[in-house]
Amino acid sequence: MKKHVFNAGPAILPEVAKEKTIDAIRDFAGTGISLLEVSHRSKDFQAVMDESTALFKELLGVPEGYAILWLGGGASTQFFSVPYNLLRTKAGYLDTDTWSAQAIKEAKLFGEVVVVASSKEGGYKFIPKDYVVPEGLDYFHITSNNTIAGTEIFAEPKTSAPLIADMSSNILSRPIDVSKYGLIYGGAQKNLAPAGVTFVIVREDLLGKVERAIPSMVDYRTHIAKGSLFNTPPVMCIFSALQALKWLKEMGGVKEMEKRNIAKANLIYNTIDNSRLFMGNVAKEDRSRMNATFSLKKEDKDLEKEFLDFAAAKGMVGVKGHRSVGGFRASIYNAMPIESVQALVDCMKEFEAAH
Ligand code: PMP
Repeated sequence: MKKHVFNAGPAILPEVAKEKTIDAIRDFAGTGISLLEVSHRSKDFQAVMDESTALFKELLGVPEGYAILWLGGGASTQFFSVPYNLLRTKAGYLDTDTWSAQAIKEAKLFGEVVVVASSKEGGYKFIPKDYVVPEGLDYFHITSNNTIAGTEIFAEPKTSAPLIADMSSNILSRPIDVSKYGLIYGGAQKNLAPAGVTFVIVREDLLGKVERAIPSMVDYRTHIAKGSLFNTPPVMCIFSALQALKWLKEMGGVKEMEKRNIAKANLIYNTIDNSRLFMGNVAKEDRSRMNATFSLKKEDKDLEKEFLDFAAAKGMVGVKGHRSVGGFRASIYNAMPIESVQALVDCMKEFEAAH
């Protein structure tokens, strides 16, 4: 049976990226050895590094003055690397979900943290909007897409401080103006690559301003100087990321992804809005195009397990909501074809007709 992978991360990857990775695991670049065995310092792997960086820059339109890093440690390592490198006295954070809360917790180890606005009281069901970012911050941090709650920030907040974004779950899903940001980071295991590689885009002139000593491994300047080869990078994941980036370019780039992602999101949200059984979890204007969260209406709550079993029997994988939210979540990243979203929507309608 065809499986439709709605996992939140690790998540669906472009077919061709998986195939090319499997081929390279057998024989990397005609070297006669596996991608899993190749030295990260070999000329053939250096070519992969260079091309990944160049293509990532090209697809996102990264201007001069920014460095791209491919690191290990996940976005969670960036939660403390960002303040380690950039927090001198005071940083601002927007609290929009569990992951921003985690970033806030880590930043507090390094200095004063101002939570400029939060939707926590409202169960993270919306993105706060009527707030003013105070002056005098070292940076202002947002989570551009909230993987768990299912909300997304579509307009960058106004701030005089450098804007920092955790874009783990919506990088490359639509065009962004990188010049508005001081630093962008994310775990690549949602919209780009298998789990294991983290991307960082950093404006180089922001570095070197804190007084504290920074361990080499956490210091962005170390990795910039060594071209992300200070230590052993996640070789296979970077190769896979390159294949996904090539696929994305071939499909028409981030503008085309945005078009497709809007179509997919509309399909699922329209189904939810016209449903007798299902309802969306969050404010309509803040609905994520990447992670659609929904639930059964109150009176039908007891059907939750039945729907999950029904969906699973039809090949839907990963539709169960995050344990902290419950209900359902369909992660519909770049690589997800609209046919799979249609299959889920058909499944929801069929379930509804039977109840
Ligand atoms: N930020 C966001 C928005 C996420 O969705 C996640 C993972 N689900 C993380 C951070 C944590 O990432 P990692 O597991 O790569 O540390």
